[in-house]
Order: sequence, then structure tokens, then C-alpha cells
Amino acid sequence: MRATVIHGERDIRFEEVPDPVLSTGGDAIVRVVASCVCGSDLWGYRGVTPIAAARRIGHEFVGIVESVGADVATIKVGDFVIAPFYDCDMTCINCRNGVSSSCLHGGFWGQKDRLGGFADGGQGEWVRVPHADGTLVVVPGQPDPAFIPSLLSLSDVMCTGHHAAVSAGVGPGKTVVVVGDGAVGLSAVLAASRLGAARVVAMSRHEARQTIAREFGATDIVEERADAGVAKIKEMFDGIGPDCVLECVGTEESMDQALRSCRPGGMVGFVGMPSGGPKLPMPFLFYNNIGVRGGVAPVRNYIEELLPEVLDGRINPGRVFDLELPMDQVAEAYLAMDERRATKVLLRP
Ligand SMILES: [Zn+2]
Repeated sequence: MRATVIHGERDIRFEEVPDPVLSTGGDAIVRVVASCVCGSDLWGYRGVTPIAAARRIGHEFVGIVESVGADVATIKVGDFVIAPFYDCDMTCINCRNGVSSSCLHGGFWGQKDRLGGFADGGQGEWVRVPHADGTLVVVPGQPDPAFIPSLLSLSDVMCTGHHAAVSAGVGPGKTVVVVGDGAVGLSAVLAASRLGAARVVAMSRHEARQTIAREFGATDIVEERADAGVAKIKEMFDGIGPDCVLECVGTEESMDQALRSCRPGGMVGFVGMPSGGPKLPMPFLFYNNIGVRGGVAPVRNYIEELLPEVLDGRINPGRVFDLELPMDQVAEAYLAMDERRATKVLLRP
């Protein structure tokens, strides 16, 4: 089959790789219907995280089950499934505690799983899925093709935005500011709005992204950043700031923006993958009683809650995709995201 391999900085190739094989009993092989490029894939692409050796890449996909191992109980051949950005069994204590991203038996795509098989990367024609019964979520029936972008967003960005909102304690009547207008930031706007926030501010300077943020329920847009951004936000919320701030970037600047925008006693939910290692200013948190909660999103625990709302059209998180390419043009997909010509690129084999 063909799949995406990252060979080094700015070197992405769609090339021949070994076909997946069922190997551990509880696994399944899925024919990928749609995949995409994640902002976090760009860390390796840009050389921020060095690539020591060529490796498979891609961790978001939806597809159709083509075969299942002998021990698979609930997933059936022909099912249309959503995969989270990691595999998990959904039976261990961490999965049952709602943190399937810390599954005791799980792992990540594009590498060996903990059972000795190989979990293919998501940006390819087929993927062998470990722990198929735990990892995969079945979409009832065969979905209308129009829903595929939104179903794919449940693999990562929509559920990650939701995790930011849940971590920050967003609920009815809360005031919320979202730092970051990438696919996760926009999804966080949608998640906060869906959870009943009274006011949701999107911090964005891009007109197209501002439009989506408004469609997703943003009540206000703030273009200022750094000190000017903090001053503007405080002015909007009684001079003190909002109840909740959702940090969806992962840089030192974005975390600083989030912490200084929050009101005393408020909560920052963070889901931006840390790059360069933002440090928490403990005295500032102490004297302002600001909480910080979040991390790698346990998306598998959220998919079933959000799926019905995608299928009945109440939410349309697939709007974050603004470019679609055939998978053999995956190198162009990375370039378009690197050059910010696209927010998020959907790939079809
Ligand atoms: Zn588990």
C-alpha cells in the first residue's frame, strides 16, 4: 500500500510501505476514507522536533473496517469508524477514569503497539488498528459524504477543543476567551458555545478564521495581542478578565496571553502541545488564584458525546477544513499549512 513517510525536515513522501496484517487477535484493518494534517505534525516538518530516522506519520482518520482479528467482539467488517489520535483499550483504569490518552495498554499511530504489532500512521491507504473494540467508534449506518469532514474532526481537533473547555470548567453563563485561531482554537469556540457559555471571545487576526469563529458562536473578536490584548480583554470583563481562558497554541507567548487574560479565581484550560516549554509563573498563579488544567486530550472519551450532534447537524466542526487534496499530494498539504495558506487540510486516498 502507499502511506505518508516523513524523512526529515520538509521532506514528506507518499510512498510504498508494507501492507498491514492482522497480528494480535484484537486488531482490525481499516481502509482510510479521509485523513488530515495536524498542527502538531508540523513540529517535525519544521525541524522543531528533529527526525532521527524516516517514520510513518498521521494520526487522524475515518474509514471502513475491512477485516477484524479473531478476538474482536463489537467492531464488524463494513462498519464506518472514527479513530482517535491514539489507540486504547477502554477497559483499563485510566480509560475508565476518562483519560484514555493515558491508556495502560495504548500507544500512538505510526509505530509498534504494545502487543508487538505495527499501528500504521493515519495518512495512508490502510491502517492496522490495535485494540479495535476500544479504539474505534462506529458511526451508525453509512454516513452521508457531507458529514465526513465533521466526523474526521472528532479524531482530534473538535474533541481537543472540547477538552480545553471542559478543563477550564466552561458551562452555562460562563465568560470565555479562546487564545489561538487554528483548527483547535476554532473548535474550542464551538465547544464553549455548545456548553452554554454566555460570551465567547475569539482572539484572531485572520478574517476567514474570524468568520468561522462567529459561525461557531464567538460573540466577540479581539485582534490585539500581548499587553494590548490583555488590556482589551480585561476592559471587556469588568476590568478583571473572563472566568475561563482556553489556551490552544502551546507557545510561551500564548500561555502568557492566557494566564494574564484570566480573572482572579478563574481557570485556564490548555491543550496546545507545548513547543519550547512554556513555564508556569507560580507566584502569579498563587497571588491570583488562577488554576491551570488540561493536557493531551482524551478524545476517545468524548467522541460518543459529540457524535450524535454531528449526525443531526447541530454542530458542524468540519468547517475548520479549508483545503482538500488527494493523499498523493500530501507534501503540498504540509506546505500549505506551513505557509498558513490553509488552516487544516483534508486528505483522501
Ligand atoms: Zn486503557
